Amino acid sequence: MRYPRLEFKTGNLLVILPPNCKNEAPLLEEKKAWILEKHRLIKESLERAGEEFRLLGEPFHLRPSGDGGVSLDFEKREVACDPSNERHLQRLREILREELRKRILEKVGELGKITGLLPSRIYIRRQRSKWASCSSSGNLSFNLRMIALPPRLIDYVVLHELLHLKYPRHNREFWGRVEEFFPDYREMEKELLRYWFSTARGGAWLFDPKASPSDAPSPRSPCSTNP
Ligand SMILES: [Zn+2]
Repeated sequence: MRYPRLEFKTGNLLVILPPNCKNEAPLLEEKKAWILEKHRLIKESLERAGEEFRLLGEPFHLRPSGDGGVSLDFEKREVACDPSNERHLQRLREILREELRKRILEKVGELGKITGLLPSRIYIRRQRSKWASCSSSGNLSFNLRMIALPPRLIDYVVLHELLHLKYPRHNREFWGRVEEFFPDYREMEKELLRYWFSTARGGAWLFDPKASPSDAPSPRSPCSTNP
């Protein structure tokens, strides 16, 4: 592990110091500008994060499922499901996992031809702390929560992880390659941070591995207004 390291973990600043270091003050002083900028971004993201449930970047309406089945209509932007029913939640996650897998595989295939990079395996999981990761054995894991992102952001995450197969670190070489595909990658990174907070609010009942059906919102019938 490289020392020292600064990370924002779900909104909290984590400072990792070398074992012999007793005083973090000089480091914090040196990194003040970075910390303040990150803090500002997170604050802004939290303020802008709505309670909406989103899929592919669009707000979706949750309605009670009349016949007891789970269904998803991307055109109408509507999910029919009973979120207090664990079987319904599992079914909905299965549908979304398939949708996300399809999109990811398509993008991996397309980018694989250009970059020559292909993962050994692809996993889609519910994760609490990151959008995606790349293992040293060449496997890529994607968070199911990515299905809440607009398609272009999904593509960005796929490219980002795919490039990690060759460039494991976030160094200049890595960002240089990212920039060839996404000249606006800095904006993409900011958007990802914003979506991290908004999906934590509007989609936790479905995406958070620790969520229980009792955390779920009650579906509103299409004709009802505010409760
Ligand atoms: Zn990365």
